Amino acid sequence: KARNSHEPEFIQAVEEVFHSIAPVLEQHPEFEKANILERMAEPERTIIFRVPWTNDKGELIVNRGYRIQFNGVRGPYKGGFRFHPSVNLSILKFLGFEQTFKNALTGRPIGGGKGGADFDPKGKSDAEVMRFCQSFMTELFRHIGPDVDVPAGDIGVGAREIGYLFGQYRRLKGAYEAGVLTGKHVIYGGALGRKEATGFGLLYFTKAMFDQNLIELAGKTAIISGSGNVALYTAVKAQEFGVKILAMSDSAGYVYDPAGIDVKAMIDLKEVRHGRIKEYLEDHPSAKYVEGLRKIWGVKCDIAFPCATQNDIDLESAKMLVANGVLAVCEGANMPTTYEAMTYLMDKGVLLTPAKASNAGGVAISAVEMTQNSMRQSMTFEEVDTILKTIMNNIYRDSLNASIKYGYGHDLVAGANIVSFLRIAESMMLQGDY
Ligand code: NDP
Repeated sequence: KARNSHEPEFIQAVEEVFHSIAPVLEQHPEFEKANILERMAEPERTIIFRVPWTNDKGELIVNRGYRIQFNGVRGPYKGGFRFHPSVNLSILKFLGFEQTFKNALTGRPIGGGKGGADFDPKGKSDAEVMRFCQSFMTELFRHIGPDVDVPAGDIGVGAREIGYLFGQYRRLKGAYEAGVLTGKHVIYGGALGRKEATGFGLLYFTKAMFDQNLIELAGKTAIISGSGNVALYTAVKAQEFGVKILAMSDSAGYVYDPAGIDVKAMIDLKEVRHGRIKEYLEDHPSAKYVEGLRKIWGVKCDIAFPCATQNDIDLESAKMLVANGVLAVCEGANMPTTYEAMTYLMDKGVLLTPAKASNAGGVAISAVEMTQNSMRQSMTFEEVDTILKTIMNNIYRDSLNASIKYGYGHDLVAGANIVSFLRIAESMMLQGDY
């Protein structure tokens, strides 16, 4: 803790996991003897680099780029890039640490990593984004590869950015290594179903939890924070399952539509036209727009899907949700609930799906994309979706079983932490101290 005292998000992520695994350590003294916790909390490698690029006015801008190769014990480092002005080492270390555990939960052979830059793609032209991505990859290409480290997208990095990054990697390597990045456009090697996988997977996990608790999902109301990749496809699948979405947000505010959010129109607005969420009102006059971060949690609903960013639901938001009778909080973003809010919600009997389990669908299908690229084959959307359902149901079952086995009852947060910890710790022990 002392070594990382200036990294609050990282400490928060590590403490949550280490808190859950106390009963495991009692049964496995060999882990403590091998100092496994300290080894797990230290990234294997951190690369920080200069990213100079020229904007459309001809000015030279310098951003800071990062890649954290957190833990490669179970396969090539795997995890997305985040391009957002808030990016710093603490945030990327928390994401890389979480990613290592999430990836172990999928059961696929992938290690954990994360990267990004303090670059804001918002308001930049395509040409500026392209020049930034090319400069970023000019340094990074020497550190990654299909068997070394396989980055993907995250906040601010979608198929457009992955395309520019891939093009530059291919130029520099002089080889077509399709499996070096995932989240590629389907026209040149991306997997059908990857775009939808995190949101769809979140709903498969949520459905498994509702079924287990004998609660009907159809007919429930929900709110979703964010309106990016995860939020949009959470909305699509939730609607398919008969859930009415009342509100969605972006970082400026939220829209509330009593008739239920028109998800097709929302996808057109956010994914195709790249508009702001308040423009939704132009074609939906019955909806209202409320400005402000976190205001969305005051909307009465049965299910809350935080799908924007970390620490989105704080204690105050959790209290509003509980006062309005929320049944479940299902995490789509990474670490969207603060530790105090999470404890409060669970104490009040709210069902909670932990992000590292319930949003693992995206990386699971990224691993499927890697497999397709290695085999030089592609699968249909239905084949990928079937794999996704199986993986999400397995993660739910494994997390629940571990929670019961170690005396936590139906605490999926503890269960998910224990399953992934055991897989990583045992792999590390088998590969020896170094
Ligand atoms: P996008 O960039 O597509 O969308 C992010 C959304 O969240 C936007 O609506 C954005 O609003 C909002 N947002 C971003 N930062 C903030 C902030 N600081 N405060 C409030 N709102 C914010 O990202 P994704 O949908 O890909 O990712 C969302 C979350 O899901 C992240 O936590 C990510 O790590 C996690 N995740 C993503 C996966 C994926 O497959 N994409 C897989 C697993 C986890 P605005 O446009 O106004 O910035």
